[in-house]
Amino acid sequence: MQKKQLIDYLFVGLGASNCLLILELEKKRLLDGKKIIILEPHQKNKKDKTYCFWSTSDNVEKIIPLDFIDKEWDRVIINRKVQSLNPLKYYHVSSLTLYEKALKIIKNHNVKILKHTLEKNQSSNRIITDNIVYEPKYSFDSRPPLIKKLQKNQFYINQSFVGWQIQTNEEVFDPQSFTMMDFEIPQDNSTQFVYVLPFDSKHALVEVTRFGEDIMSIDEGEKLLNNYLKNYKNYQVLDIEKGCIPMTNADISTEICSNIRNMGTRAGHIKPSTGYAFKSMSMDATTIVNQIALENETIVPSNVQIRDNRFAFYDSLLLRILSEKSHLGKPIFKRLFQRIKAPEILYFLDEESSLSNELKIFYSLQWKPFIVAALKVLWNINNQIFKSFLPLLLSILFLAFQSLNMTYLTDVFLVTGLLLIGIPHGAIDHLIETNHFNQSVSLKFIALYLAQGAVIVLLWYMNPLLALLIFIGYSIFHFAQADFTEWKLNSKISWIWGILFFCGILLSHPIELNEILNQLSISELPKIQGNIFSSLWQDIAFGCLGLGIIMGFIQRSTAMIATSLFLLLTTQLTLIHAFGTYFIYNHSLLGWNHLRNHFQVNSLQLWKKASLFSFGSYALFLFLYWYFGNDFGNYIGTFFVFLSAISFPHVLRMNNFYNYYKN
Ligand SMILES: Cc1cc2nc3c(=O)[nH]c(=O)nc-3n(C[C@H](O)[C@H](O)[C@H](O)COP(=O)(O)OP(=O)(O)OC[C@H]3O[C@@H](n4cnc5c(N)ncnc54)[C@H](O)[C@@H]3O)c2cc1C
Repeated sequence: MQKKQLIDYLFVGLGASNCLLILELEKKRLLDGKKIIILEPHQKNKKDKTYCFWSTSDNVEKIIPLDFIDKEWDRVIINRKVQSLNPLKYYHVSSLTLYEKALKIIKNHNVKILKHTLEKNQSSNRIITDNIVYEPKYSFDSRPPLIKKLQKNQFYINQSFVGWQIQTNEEVFDPQSFTMMDFEIPQDNSTQFVYVLPFDSKHALVEVTRFGEDIMSIDEGEKLLNNYLKNYKNYQVLDIEKGCIPMTNADISTEICSNIRNMGTRAGHIKPSTGYAFKSMSMDATTIVNQIALENETIVPSNVQIRDNRFAFYDSLLLRILSEKSHLGKPIFKRLFQRIKAPEILYFLDEESSLSNELKIFYSLQWKPFIVAALKVLWNINNQIFKSFLPLLLSILFLAFQSLNMTYLTDVFLVTGLLLIGIPHGAIDHLIETNHFNQSVSLKFIALYLAQGAVIVLLWYMNPLLALLIFIGYSIFHFAQADFTEWKLNSKISWIWGILFFCGILLSHPIELNEILNQLSISELPKIQGNIFSSLWQDIAFGCLGLGIIMGFIQRSTAMIATSLFLLLTTQLTLIHAFGTYFIYNHSLLGWNHLRNHFQVNSLQLWKKASLFSFGSYALFLFLYWYFGNDFGNYIGTFFVFLSAISFPHVLRMNNFYNYYKN
């Protein structure tokens, strides 16, 4: 029989990212007394990589302890000219130093190293070996990433290289200057260049690098190296380094399990346009350790895994150019290094530049390939823009139905949408709670869900006005949180949007709103003549939606502008049609797509998971329709109470979900 054993940490792979994490855990004494397993098929007793990075000397110790660094340079040779790197320096760490220091730390703790590998699709959530099932509290997985199929605007090229460590007879190198990207070598239909890292005046690593689809073979690399070094008459090759780094902005498959944390390349730390990762992995190790120190059960995914900023856009432009027109790499990089100082470029590559510096950099470059690439990127995000405009288009259609006295067609659109997306999007809360797609529903979950809904019903019974205010409060919170997350905006000000659009929808329909208030035994809105419309409440509603458009311009959000415009149009529809269009074709549709992408499944798979609760809701609606029949309109207040009760537990779960994934 298999024995179960709980362990504290599982490290899958003992490469750069996990070694950096081990160093950081040791610093905070978070390895003491812990049960640890490391899966690593290799001995890790050879230097297989060199890790270079740049930093100011003040900050370098935040990245790696000083005794790991075996060489630093304060000057760089670019386009065959020497430049100062001040205030930065370029640092070199040998992979062997990193492995040795991590192994030394491990020796002093309760660690078992297994020469065991995990298969590509095997979960690192539990491992079975020698009839023991190990279940880790935290699993740090640094296996090579599983890259998903490329989508539009995603590219994949290889950064492959072959390097020789050479020793010359004469003093030929300046030990303070390293050579970065010397393009004066044949380009072979790709982008090729040479790095020279001199360790002293007679000893250097000379590396030829290729950005391109084809990986450079050792033969190709050695031919280029021989040619490059032909002026150095006497040198010996001491060692060879070869490797390949993926340069891609493709999505990486992630396992949906909250105690598994992807690391290094698997977590997207390789910067797509450069291949550098060391500094980013080191920062990530600090972030993880801070969370472990707080005893967080879940370590939030790495911030580079969900990369959606302007630098991701710049990376996608360069990747597009390098993959579609690789011969342009040499003139672009040469011009960049001629016109912009090296430290400025390095800050830009670290994503620490200001917008004005970035404009200066792009201004210095050849415009045509970047403009063409940007237009292609924009063309391909049409689909996303279309989603923002869908509710606007539908509201125009519904207005047309209304003027033709065919509102039953609007009902068909809304009821179909409600059955296919509206209800199912809220029927997978059990998956969201556990963050595990294959999780079945537990009785505990159902009991807690019903209890949370019952609290709201009780509140309506005791104090309807308070219950209404609370319902409005969490509805504003939830819809605004969802919109801001989907539109990728800063959630701190989402409440402003929430208030604007909620007042816009409700107050633009004062008569219908008063009917609902009547049924809930809450006093009506007073009737006040408006300055523009027949009611002051409608004036306020239009004002709010107008502010929504302004806010959209300030936030540079096409989606917010489109949604405000669509809500302005829906003021001319009934309240139920206006809210239904927003709820189904904006809120639920965006949420559904988000959950589909999150769990990496298609709609059918998600529907199957939602079916239990969806069919339960359909049955309940049919029952209510059969029971109340034509009287349903008179029970809209009761329906409201019911709606608020079932939405409350959903809001709580979605809040946890969005908070977890925003980091
Ligand atoms: C030759 C080379 C040079 C580089 N130089 C730089 C540089 O100068 N600066 C920079 O910033 N970045 C550099 N990079 C990029 C990046 O920093 C490195 O690739 C870095 O090693 C990534 O760390 P990692 O932990 O993701 O992967 P790795 O360091 O490769 O570690 C992964 C570990 O997982 C183990 N493993 C693999 N499969 C399994 C399995 N199925 N089960 C269990 N264990 C497994 C491997 O044996 C390995 O030890 C370089 C990359 C290469 C290839």
